[in-house]
Amino acid sequence: MSENARKPSYEAAQIESERQAAWVERGDYSAPAPPADGERGVYVKSSSPFTSGNLHMGHVRDYTIGDAYARFRRARGDDVLMGFGFDAFGLPAELAAIEREIPVAGWVEECGERMLVQMQRLGYSFDYDRVFYSSDEAQYRWAQWLFLTLYEMGMIYLDDTTVDWCDTCQTTLATIQVEEGGTCWRCHNEVRLIRRPTWFLKITPYLEANDANMAKLEAQPWDELALATQRYILGRAEGVEFELEGPAGPLTVFTPHRDAAGLATFVLLSPRHPDVDDWIADAAVREELEQLRSGGWERSARDARSVPVVDTGRAVPGPGGEGLPVLVSPLVDARFGPTAALGIPAVDEADRDIAARFPGRLPGVDGPKTGLSDGFSAHRRGEADEGEGAPPSAPVEGAREAKRYRANDFSISRQRSWGTPIPIVHCPDHGPVPVPAADLPVVLPRDIKPTGEGNPLAERSDFVDVACPQCGKPAKRETDTLDCHFDALFLWVPATVPPEDRAAQMFTHPESRKWLPAERLVAGGDSGGFVFDQRIVTKALRDHGEFAYMEEGEPFEGCLFHEMVIADGRKMSKHLGNVVDPDELVGRLGADTVRVAVLWAAGPAKTLNWSDAAVRFANKFLRGFWTYAHDRFVELDGAKHDPEKAAATEKQREKLRGWCENGLGRIAEDTAELQMHKSIRNLTRLFERIQQYEKQLKKRGQLDRVDAEALVAAILLLARALQPFAPHAAEAILINSGRFTSDDLPGAWPDATTIPVAVDDALSGAAS
Ligand SMILES: [Zn+2]
Ligand SMILES: [Zn+2]
Repeated sequence: MSENARKPSYEAAQIESERQAAWVERGDYSAPAPPADGERGVYVKSSSPFTSGNLHMGHVRDYTIGDAYARFRRARGDDVLMGFGFDAFGLPAELAAIEREIPVAGWVEECGERMLVQMQRLGYSFDYDRVFYSSDEAQYRWAQWLFLTLYEMGMIYLDDTTVDWCDTCQTTLATIQVEEGGTCWRCHNEVRLIRRPTWFLKITPYLEANDANMAKLEAQPWDELALATQRYILGRAEGVEFELEGPAGPLTVFTPHRDAAGLATFVLLSPRHPDVDDWIADAAVREELEQLRSGGWERSARDARSVPVVDTGRAVPGPGGEGLPVLVSPLVDARFGPTAALGIPAVDEADRDIAARFPGRLPGVDGPKTGLSDGFSAHRRGEADEGEGAPPSAPVEGAREAKRYRANDFSISRQRSWGTPIPIVHCPDHGPVPVPAADLPVVLPRDIKPTGEGNPLAERSDFVDVACPQCGKPAKRETDTLDCHFDALFLWVPATVPPEDRAAQMFTHPESRKWLPAERLVAGGDSGGFVFDQRIVTKALRDHGEFAYMEEGEPFEGCLFHEMVIADGRKMSKHLGNVVDPDELVGRLGADTVRVAVLWAAGPAKTLNWSDAAVRFANKFLRGFWTYAHDRFVELDGAKHDPEKAAATEKQREKLRGWCENGLGRIAEDTAELQMHKSIRNLTRLFERIQQYEKQLKKRGQLDRVDAEALVAAILLLARALQPFAPHAAEAILINSGRFTSDDLPGAWPDATTIPVAVDDALSGAAS
């Protein structure tokens, strides 16, 4: 073989397509046979993207972390399932189809296929045979089954109530879809509240259970960001509660201010409080309340200074007998859920703001505490503006310890045509009647071409007009579809079921028990809402029986949330012209460079501010290691052996082994914790050490064959440790060493004892 053939240059495109073809041929992508009875496999669940048609850098970050972890666990000898599916229903696809005037179904398929090609090009080791689309009939029939099951359990109800509504998208939104500041997650326009019949998912029965499990999750590999989202969404407030005598019976009031309950000067009711109607004094107040419920108060007005407040004009005797005016405001929901809360301006800033808005009706805080000038001067003096001395104390006798959760039921239906049809028929005589399970799926017409106006499903008589399942009389199908948030409640399940069995056993397949709960969820930092509700539904299906084997009712043993990828310190957007296109990068520098760059540039908990420095670093490292390795393979062939000389360098070889042992240990540790930025740093450090070893020896002249053997052994160790991150280049280096073939590669995570130290070890070929 010529010298040039032994020293191929680093042509990423060619190397990568060769390796990818080999992986397909070897069946590397296929999920392994399920682990033996009683053994658990490692299921790595990555995000399920919308079928937008293009991977963005956020996806690349997500899947590169997940794939590196999956490859690492495989190298560690675990059975690993890396499943993937598209969250294919929903507005983005529908709007793209509207723009192009084509049916949504075809558009979704086209986009999905394009994204799958991109993912394969990046070397992600998903089991591509298990890929699913939430918009497939076989898939959404189970969303319908889940709907009926939860409906039967009393966890889904129809209510004519207040929902978040986006005028632009003409649709209701789930709480999670309303951004901080009250804008639509999709179009970022202002959202308002309206009244409309809608389907709700009742999560309140499992809030306590989600809360109780937090301590367990903290002891599991859940990262701080993921845990923080769960705590935030739950919104637990601890305090006390007791009863006041209302007009139609006792009214339970809550406050987080245990020691100041006796200082309450008013009561604030949630508009969703079950007894709110008891407090309506007259038609004018009722009108005002209706307006508050339906009139679309500005979402941005969550602040206590601008949130709507309706004065009922009535009062309730307080703990000390004094009358406490009763007011109604959604501020209560935003803080404590649909409850009744005490207003205590003396200790609570939000309450102080409310009191200031009703100066005649509600007493403010006496004395200097509210005095503007005093507050100002206190601030100037660098002191708290809460006034001097200990906080006022006035506990109420007989008050019970209590807690409230801010998390609440949310709307799961929307007036859109690209979604899972809701399996309900509205009968004039029987009201809403569930479609019998045997009649599932309720099929969504595939040829619907939405225009963006109204509801196309309602105009299709072949869809709408049906017989009532109960009495057979003419009835109408529900024309709302399920929000894709509902489809997502079980998007972590399908990959654990062989595709051919999904139609019959989505929730009951024996193989799922080997993979669930998932060993690790890797998802964006904004996935907290999805995860929270997935945890609720897991508990519901545990109690219903299907998931009885997940005793804690938790779908994810471990959870890693990563932050997003931005550029120039700003969110990437076409408008700003700062969008980084993964395809362009991969085409120019190769998948391995992009993978290493995205892992190295920032730890998962940090926002990744994209810069070319990252790809330059990654490419230089890979290129450098590639060239170095191949040069040393060739040099080894010409190395001479002198037993005396070799014996004299034993210490150096021992040192090299120590460095490798140490480096590999650190890389393994960091990778197991998905801190791959550290793994990459330690890979580059180990590479430096290896070069240092060679440099030191070369001071004494040519390397002895034994030293050259040790050097190549170290290079091969480094290549193996590099496999999870830059799988193509790493594998090609191993093969080009001449010690392995594509079909016979070292499987396990490398072990530094393969570095020969004693002269005899090296010459007996232990270096392989
Ligand atoms: Zn919108
Ligand atoms: Zn009927």
